[in-house]
Amino acid sequence: MDQREHLGLADLDADAWGLSTLAVHAGELRQKPGNSLTDPIFCTSTYTFADTQAVIDFIEQDQPREEYGRYGNPGEKYVEGKLAALEGGERALLYASGMAALVGLVMAKLSAGDEIIFFDECYHRSREFCVKQLGRFGVVTRQVTTGDYEAMAAAITPRTKLLISESPTNPHMSVVDLDRFVALGRRHGVETLIDATLASPYNLRPIDAGVDYVLHSATKYLGGHNDLLAGVLVGRRKDLEPVRQLRGVMGAVSSPQNVYLLSRGLKTFELRMQRHNENGLAVARFLADHPQVERVYYPGLADHPYHAVARQTMRGYGGLVTFTLRDADWRQTAAVVDAVRIPRIAPSLGGVESLIEQPLVMSYYRCTPAERASYGIGDNMIRLACGIENPRDLIDDLAQALPAATRAAVVVGERQVAATATPVR
Ligand SMILES: *Cc1c(COP(=O)(O)O)cnc(C)c1O
Repeated sequence: MDQREHLGLADLDADAWGLSTLAVHAGELRQKPGNSLTDPIFCTSTYTFADTQAVIDFIEQDQPREEYGRYGNPGEKYVEGKLAALEGGERALLYASGMAALVGLVMAKLSAGDEIIFFDECYHRSREFCVKQLGRFGVVTRQVTTGDYEAMAAAITPRTKLLISESPTNPHMSVVDLDRFVALGRRHGVETLIDATLASPYNLRPIDAGVDYVLHSATKYLGGHNDLLAGVLVGRRKDLEPVRQLRGVMGAVSSPQNVYLLSRGLKTFELRMQRHNENGLAVARFLADHPQVERVYYPGLADHPYHAVARQTMRGYGGLVTFTLRDADWRQTAAVVDAVRIPRIAPSLGGVESLIEQPLVMSYYRCTPAERASYGIGDNMIRLACGIENPRDLIDDLAQALPAATRAAVVVGERQVAATATPVR
């Protein structure tokens, strides 16, 4: 049975709906249990059958009902319908986290001897999983410089099964030319995956561009409230069927409560994205004009190396702004992070609360300086994930915090030299 029919949506004009209408209504039953307006939370691990014949009918007719919680939950189906509609894809698969979604896809699609190619600016756990874990099973991961399509083409062999990139990348906010990326995959008969977490379906439409799989850490903009972990894969139904089956075996599924929270968070998706985009751009412009700021990585700024590609492919540029401080060592940079009053110090992004971090400390502390340099992580780099607070307040806060870098220089004085070299393994 068609999923839309199953959900009671087949007679609705959902294909023509805008994002907010989809975010509020898509995927949900029109008439819900108990005549409830909002989705109930199906707090059950298993599902009952009236009699033996009902079990046999379920198996023989492949009925679209639930059986056991690891294989599905009604709330999971509703939110998957919503996510597929928001992304413009045929099918969405929900996972317990973004990493579980990535692991679920590559474990289902790759076998010993197969190869995958990454653009090298990527979420470090994605890289770690592919290099360290998949490597143990004989899958080869190759990394090429982000945006170097010739290098990616040159790295393709007859064993290459998947091309992977993020867009925009974290934390440099490089943007992939989706047309070139898709053309490369098609020319060589290799499937493509875009991790569009930092863009969200509001800002980027990889499926429309012909990408085979889109991945989101729904923990970020889709959930949007820093209160849940989830991940989603979107693609064609037939391509995702083996991935869905493996998910039921792996068990990396979301709980009924978690699925409800995600659905709840999604209702305001378009509104939140509009504010994240507005805040990101306003903060990036403010930082770009500030004398203490050396460089701003935000694709909405005209001097960003990927601005032209971003303007072609993106509707807005999101809330994440990375910047470096002029003549600041890691301690002076930390002093600015410590001086802000609104953003909280934490990893992650995409929620209503602004979050700030120094990548050197938060994500790359155990790396050697050479490794950090190879990942493009400067000592003086700050990553600010703008929430949905008022842009004026975020800017005023940064304006009062930035001078902390020079104050820290005065306080630290002689110790600066030693401090610069401190973070090591
Ligand atoms: C956070 C993130 C992930 C991992 O998602 P989790 O939900 O934390 O497992 C993957 N890719 C990107 C770009 C992310 O920001």
